[in-house]
Amino acid sequence: MNIKYDLGIVGGGPAGYTAALHARKRGLRVVLFEKEQLGGVCLNKGCIPTKTILRSAELYEQLLSSENIGLSFSDAKVDFTKVIERKNQVTSKLRKGLELTLKNSGTIIINAEAKVLDKNTISANGETYTFEKIIVATGSEPATFKGMDFDHKNILCSDDVLELTGLPKSIVIVGSGAIGIEWARIFSAFQVDVTIIELAENLLPVADIEVSKRIERNFKTKKINIYKSVAVESIDYNGICNVHLNNGETIQAEKVLVAVGRKVPEYKKFDDVTYIGDICKEIQLAHFASKQAIEVIDGIKFDKSLVPSVVYGEPEIAWVGKREQDLEPESYKKSMLLVSALGKSHCDNSTDGFIKVLSKDNKIIGAHIVSKEASALIQQVLIAMQNNITADKLKEVCFAHPTYSEGIFEALFGL
Ligand SMILES: Cc1cc2nc3c(=O)[nH]c(=O)nc-3n(C[C@H](O)[C@H](O)[C@H](O)COP(=O)(O)OP(=O)(O)OC[C@H]3O[C@@H](n4cnc5c(N)ncnc54)[C@H](O)[C@@H]3O)c2cc1C
Repeated sequence: MNIKYDLGIVGGGPAGYTAALHARKRGLRVVLFEKEQLGGVCLNKGCIPTKTILRSAELYEQLLSSENIGLSFSDAKVDFTKVIERKNQVTSKLRKGLELTLKNSGTIIINAEAKVLDKNTISANGETYTFEKIIVATGSEPATFKGMDFDHKNILCSDDVLELTGLPKSIVIVGSGAIGIEWARIFSAFQVDVTIIELAENLLPVADIEVSKRIERNFKTKKINIYKSVAVESIDYNGICNVHLNNGETIQAEKVLVAVGRKVPEYKKFDDVTYIGDICKEIQLAHFASKQAIEVIDGIKFDKSLVPSVVYGEPEIAWVGKREQDLEPESYKKSMLLVSALGKSHCDNSTDGFIKVLSKDNKIIGAHIVSKEASALIQQVLIAMQNNITADKLKEVCFAHPTYSEGIFEALFGL
């Protein structure tokens, strides 16, 4: 007997599993198809594993430089096998938790590659399933350019780098988007010789210009080699990786990480089927994917111009709203507070960075933060922006001391 379900979802990443859980809360009969692992890229190959490895890297770096805060760990060592083991434990634990949550919710999970046949039919495992409605959330995969093919051993994509069995002595990172910046930060903290190659004029070109410049300054103090406005023509391997640049130079390194963005595999698009998450190529972030899912299932709309970006550099980088380079000169007000003005930053020995707020007619239109805890700070400004809380109104809030949040309060007085 062919049962007709309410909702079929292809892809068990943040977009797909969020849609499934919210649909179950509404009592819909849901089938979720996942061909690899529940949690998608975010849990298995993206957000979670990278931040788990980052934790080991940043702690190691801090230990090596802790003499100036009265501690001595000069013989601190990295056991990279254990670092990767912990990453695997964290992802496995979260995956099991997600699987249980989905099962407990009553979602039917089919572990198979699924194909949408029409707006009501999906085939998987040689069977056909019929639905009232279908959502496709099949995500994205690492992109590359001609001449930069991954060999998955030495010329790596962001999936391969998570499976390294040891730290290389040197690495070239092609691309300085969020993924490139995070891995530069991780490898540099593990004392690997890092070179970044960026086609654009600035690192992290999607960020506000002052954020890009601050990252560059910071990376230079970490002795990360930076090439900007340079294209990679090809990469080859002959016992060592050779990265050939369009300025005639060749850079050699033990490994290369190609981090030049994400692509969406070709697929047939159907009218009346809903597509959410990375597959839309709109904003390829996990929180955007899950918000889209909630919008589709619960009808809770969100402002797509107010999606925060966080990049886990050292210190953290976060922003929302307008960038300075997008605004007409004289059309806005700007205030920039140096993190070194905050007592807490000295307590933490983490004085690098700034909190920049942009406003127009008292309305906050953008915030750009390079600071310890930037990932949490950005939400405070975002909540104000989303709710039309003006800069003057936000000044009425009592911010605790000593915190980094005080920096937001102080920055408002400069507008
Ligand atoms: C290294 C890295 C770090 C990242 N860090 C962050 C971060 O810190 N913060 C952030 O917000 N975002 C981050 N991202 C991006 C984030 O992972 C994605 O935006 C998010 O995973 C997209 O969710 P999704 O549900 O659209 O797709 P995905 O997570 O890609 O999930 C899609 C799922 O669909 C499955 N699938 C595909 N085709 C089929 C089929 N035919 N049948 C059945 N199943 C199928 C796939 O196996 C996959 O599990 C990072 C990405 C990478 C690569």
